[in-house]
Amino acid sequence: AEARARYAAARPASAEQHRLAAAVLPGGNTRSVLAYTPFPTAMARGADCRLWDLDGHEYVDLCGEYTAGLFGHSEPRIHEALRQALANGISLAAVGQAEQRLAAILCARFASMERVRFTNSGTEANLIAVMAARAFTGRPALLAFRGGYHGGVLSFPLAGSSPLALPVPTVLADYNDLDGAVSAIREHAATLGAVIIEPMLGSGGCIPARPEFLAALREETAAAGIPLIFDEVMTSRMAAGGWQARLGLVPDLTTLGKYVAGGMSFGAFGGGRDIMDQFAGPLTHAGTFNNNALSMAAGCVAMGEVFGPEAAEALFARGEALRARLNGLCAAAGVEMGFTGLGSMMTVQFRAGPIDRPAAPTPAEEGLRELFFFDMMEAGLYLARRGMVALSLPVGEAETERFADAVAEFIAIREPLL
Ligand code: PLP
Repeated sequence: AEARARYAAARPASAEQHRLAAAVLPGGNTRSVLAYTPFPTAMARGADCRLWDLDGHEYVDLCGEYTAGLFGHSEPRIHEALRQALANGISLAAVGQAEQRLAAILCARFASMERVRFTNSGTEANLIAVMAARAFTGRPALLAFRGGYHGGVLSFPLAGSSPLALPVPTVLADYNDLDGAVSAIREHAATLGAVIIEPMLGSGGCIPARPEFLAALREETAAAGIPLIFDEVMTSRMAAGGWQARLGLVPDLTTLGKYVAGGMSFGAFGGGRDIMDQFAGPLTHAGTFNNNALSMAAGCVAMGEVFGPEAAEALFARGEALRARLNGLCAAAGVEMGFTGLGSMMTVQFRAGPIDRPAAPTPAEEGLRELFFFDMMEAGLYLARRGMVALSLPVGEAETERFADAVAEFIAIREPLL
């Protein structure tokens, strides 16, 4: 309560902004992930890996726009591509060169993509990928994993049913439960048109799937003729060819989103010619902004120039080193705290590991998560409220040092609670 009160007292402009917003936006926001008590910090601007809020506080941006902010706020090549696209007109209602170029870049990078189509968001990419798999197999149902998040309408709860009606009949299995998933696939093979999985749960807490679990899914779905969809909306940043390249697994369909268009709105789904060429006929897939000029232009530069294989390797290594360091601090203090994740993505956890799947947080865990968030804000570090970090390219040694120091201080001060 004290940390929350200090947070609120330091942010009168954000409080007022929330009051105005709540009069016209339910809950005061238009992205549920940005809602938290007492009110969210409203940002005024960003540059490189810095953010400034309405009250003038400066932060190191470790949230990285939930992975979509991989390039930071000021990448000059992306800005230049956007300026050029603007100068050429942004609503041409026609096919253009940039979408072909971006498609060629992605198909060359992702082993599973012979063909790709663009959407406006990761949510749409997943929805249409699932529909494509259902059309291909002629079977209606989807197998997904509890705690999986594939967009607002494809969000799978830990228990009970989804708050929004799901757009497809769904069979649920437990993440990283190899035997459970294999028997669910076998039991429902006659009705399953797709299996969808995040190779690491992102919003579910940066919990990686065990490689042998994913390999078993690949084997079982192939044997049953069920398209396997890897949702790499978040994890594709782990290597030039996505996390699938590091795993050595080739799904039937891959979905992308977030950072790929340099921070502009984006989604994509791609796969083999057999499934994808349905869109050459008989399937249609429309969308006014699918090839919007800004996303396509920024995407070509982002993926073709800025975030090549070397940049992807370096970012992955930086994240692994940071997470090892943070976990070292936790282990040395002997506290029930740690950071799960892969490469440049990580989430703080306040329960004993190893953590294979998400669980409903206890009130104590929830309290610590909130305290961690407020303490980091006070230290000038902006994270996702749930305690997730997604490093962006401009985050350097000085920023990761600062974060490690703040975590060490959190442990020192809050140790009695941990
Ligand atoms: N899939 C995953 C794994 C995600 O993390 C997200 C967003 O957080 C989505 C899909 C949905 O993407 P979007 O928010 O662009 O609709």
